[in-house]
Amino acid sequence: MTHRDHPLVRTAQALADGLLAPHAARVDEEGVPVSHLDAIRASGLLGVSAPVEYGGAGAPDGVAREVAEILAGACCSTWFVQTQHHTPVRMLARSELPVRERLLGPLATGELLSGVAYAHVRAFPRVPVRVTRAGDGWRFDGTVPWCTGWGLNDLLLLAGVSDFGEVVFAFTEAREQPGLSPSAPMRLAALSAARTVSLSLDGLWLPDTSVVRRTPRATFAPADLARAANTSPAVFGVTRAALNLLADAGEPESARVLWERLDALRTSAYTLAEHPAPEAHVPERLAVKTQAFTLLRTATTAALVARGGRSMSLQDPTQRLARAALFLHIQAQTPASRTTHLKALTEEQ
Ligand SMILES: Cc1cc2nc3c(=O)[nH]c(=O)nc-3n(C[C@H](O)[C@H](O)[C@H](O)COP(=O)(O)OP(=O)(O)OC[C@H]3O[C@@H](n4cnc5c(N)ncnc54)[C@H](O)[C@@H]3O)c2cc1C
Repeated sequence: MTHRDHPLVRTAQALADGLLAPHAARVDEEGVPVSHLDAIRASGLLGVSAPVEYGGAGAPDGVAREVAEILAGACCSTWFVQTQHHTPVRMLARSELPVRERLLGPLATGELLSGVAYAHVRAFPRVPVRVTRAGDGWRFDGTVPWCTGWGLNDLLLLAGVSDFGEVVFAFTEAREQPGLSPSAPMRLAALSAARTVSLSLDGLWLPDTSVVRRTPRATFAPADLARAANTSPAVFGVTRAALNLLADAGEPESARVLWERLDALRTSAYTLAEHPAPEAHVPERLAVKTQAFTLLRTATTAALVARGGRSMSLQDPTQRLARAALFLHIQAQTPASRTTHLKALTEEQ
């Protein structure tokens, strides 16, 4: 059985065809509705990578990537809200702290939906969110610049860095509370629909029982940066959707040429993602990621060119995919990916 035959891949395709793609234009303008997340919770997709003994599917990473491609190509905003959930699931599955028994089951089954607020840890030596030991718990102070899915998520996996260089990850409820104030939802050039806010933290206190991981930043950073060097499956999902539009616009030959490039890059990216040493080959991972961005721009631009003026309508999927592509260029950006990407851009003909 290939990954494409997995039941959850078929579930994702049915959800994409029956719900996400038909409503994507409206969602883009009005925001991801709770009902979309209800459908995703009920589908079992939130537990794709969660252990079977906690109610998840325990599927191979290749299945999770295939699901992500399908969702992102159909409605990038809905994909982006639900993709946050998979980091907390994976972190809980690796944790030996008591919070695992409390939360892994509800997250694996989709009873609870979690967002994340941890990308700011990559800004070190800047510390946007500082944690300080306080009694039997931790005090969080500072500003989370980006937090997606506000108003949709039940929980939030929040990270901060201590004065001793330790990264502390802990869960809290995803709602305004003493010490935590959200901004208004941001109006953005793309994915406004994903309900992204910033969070102001002023003495938010979380008990030790909420902590899922404590690790020296020096240990966390290399693994995190290597993981962020992989190409996001969403890049391939949006590319696929753009190539389908290109073919449907009467340009199957142009689409075929670009599909070949896509297949080759996808194989390279996923072979690297499956490499047994996840921290190895970072320059190669970044090079493939950069090439995937080039193909993403080419595919979304080709679809625009082929579809002409109608592609500018806010109802047209072409401009929505092109704006999603803009966003994907900076999602999970790191200093190394930024440098590699800029170098490639300045060397392009
Ligand atoms: C709409 C949206 C929603 C998001 N939602 C979430 C979310 O829910 N949870 C979450 O955790 N994150 C979220 N993010 C953050 C996202 O994953 C990336 O971390 C973020 O886009 C990186 O961009 P930044 O410019 O804000 O970060 P910055 O920290 O300003 O910079 C990005 C990277 O480049 C480096 N850098 C910046 N300037 C320089 C420079 N001059 N020279 C060298 N290196 C430099 C930084 O060290 C950092 O690693 C979201 C981002 C966006 C845009």
